[in-house]
Amino acid sequence: MKSISLGQSGLACSRIAYGCWRLAGTWNAAEVAPAAEAVGRRAVLAAFDAGYTLFDNADIYCGGGAEKILGQALKEAPGMRGGIVIASKCGIRPSGAPLPDSPCRYDFSGDYIVSSCEQSLRRLGVETIDLYQLHRPDYLMDPAEIASAFQRLKGAGKVREFGVSNFRPSQVTALQKACPMRLIVNQIEISLANLNCFEDGTLDQCLGEKITPMAWSPLAGGQLGDGAKKLLPSQEGYRVKPLLVAMDLLAKNHGVSRTVLALAWLMKHPSGIVPIIGSTNAARIREAARAAELDLSREDWYRLLEAARGEPLP
Ligand code: NAP
Repeated sequence: MKSISLGQSGLACSRIAYGCWRLAGTWNAAEVAPAAEAVGRRAVLAAFDAGYTLFDNADIYCGGGAEKILGQALKEAPGMRGGIVIASKCGIRPSGAPLPDSPCRYDFSGDYIVSSCEQSLRRLGVETIDLYQLHRPDYLMDPAEIASAFQRLKGAGKVREFGVSNFRPSQVTALQKACPMRLIVNQIEISLANLNCFEDGTLDQCLGEKITPMAWSPLAGGQLGDGAKKLLPSQEGYRVKPLLVAMDLLAKNHGVSRTVLALAWLMKHPSGIVPIIGSTNAARIREAARAAELDLSREDWYRLLEAARGEPLP
């Protein structure tokens, strides 16, 4: 697969990334059975074989199970670690811990960031995470405290590069001002079913500051592919039927699948959007990789934008 550099760092990876959120098919660590782990490992290895070299993970995916599965796959394929970028995230604390009545919350306090990273390293079975991201903006975040935690992690060789996820441009600016190192990615939801970042300044900032946008749910959780199994509550209201009609027509003209078209549409943007696909099906993982070869014309890109908006541009 073609490759791309992340932000202004020396890290490079495949043009499309592989996302580990759904690897064990559950949020609950207690439900991650050996059979589910085996399915997850097979998906990771299929992605590596298909040329994906960025694996996006998080401490909360499958209650830590997704990092464990990626770690198991690395053991199964000894040459893999050196050939991939491992990305993970921290900062979301699920409800019910440490106290039964603790609410779901975000936590960017320095000690929490450092200890989360150390636990991720243990689950992954590696010494360094290549790209460590803050998952969702903590309402109580203190940029100076985060910067100091980042320096502790970088100084100890535990993290190479840092990024954020779901940050508004003003939050990226506030954190970057406090950080001596460059923030290299902002991971946000971007797809033909969710165009927010084209209009809220996020992609403008990525262009201006050379931050790589990574697109989560690039197929809107499957709604732009062959249908969704499990959606985030925020994605349940997407109305994609008319869009799918336009996509099918254009996909037929190009002789590709709707998935390839949806991903190629994202990659046309000059900010260098890196879609993160989340399928655990080997054939679909391979199919999505084909999108790196399709260069859409401006006309086709705007045709799809119009269909996604549901009305012509002014
Ligand atoms: P997605 O690629 O939009 O959706 C994947 C889902 O679509 C899977 O359940 C898959 O099922 C289904 N699907 C249906 N038809 C498909 C087709 N033709 N090709 C591929 N998949 C098809 O992405 P996502 O899983 O929602 O998210 C991708 C990654 O983004 C996650 O793994 C995670 O790394 C990241 N993420 C980040 C955040 C954040 O806040 N930073 C939030 C959500 C996700 P099958 O497995 O059966 O193929």
